[in-house]
Amino acid sequence: MPVLRAGVEVDAYCTRCKMDLTHKIIAVVGNKPVKVECRTCYGTHNYRPPKSGPVPPPRAEGSSARAPSAPRPARKPSAEDHVTVTPPPGVIIHPYRMSDKYSRDQWISHKVFGTGCVSLLVGTDKIEVRFSGGAKVLVHDRHDD
Ligand SMILES: [Zn+2]
Repeated sequence: MPVLRAGVEVDAYCTRCKMDLTHKIIAVVGNKPVKVECRTCYGTHNYRPPKSGPVPPPRAEGSSARAPSAPRPARKPSAEDHVTVTPPPGVIIHPYRMSDKYSRDQWISHKVFGTGCVSLLVGTDKIEVRFSGGAKVLVHDRHDD
């Protein structure tokens, strides 16, 4: 944001020319021009903001319009994504087999996903397991017969 001070040119509405024109600032109060001199008619008058200013106020007004596709760098990864799942000491870790039946808070060891904790029972034959790489839904209590 440019510093507004006497001598700087700004766009303002000229009360004499009746249009938006470049004005030279004569007086500034609180970083706002209060008195300006029209560069066209050289009349001095109180500052008036441009009527058809191309710059909308920096409000959240247009925030819903077309979100940029660029990723938001400030976004923190969700805790679910990058949590390190570590079994508490002494806990029994069951080697995962889809034919076995598991219950909540059991620890299992999966040959692909590693060690995880059963966080949810999904339906009657699925479990959601929290692994270090994220939650996975696995089948359990399934018998191929
Ligand atoms: Zn003027």
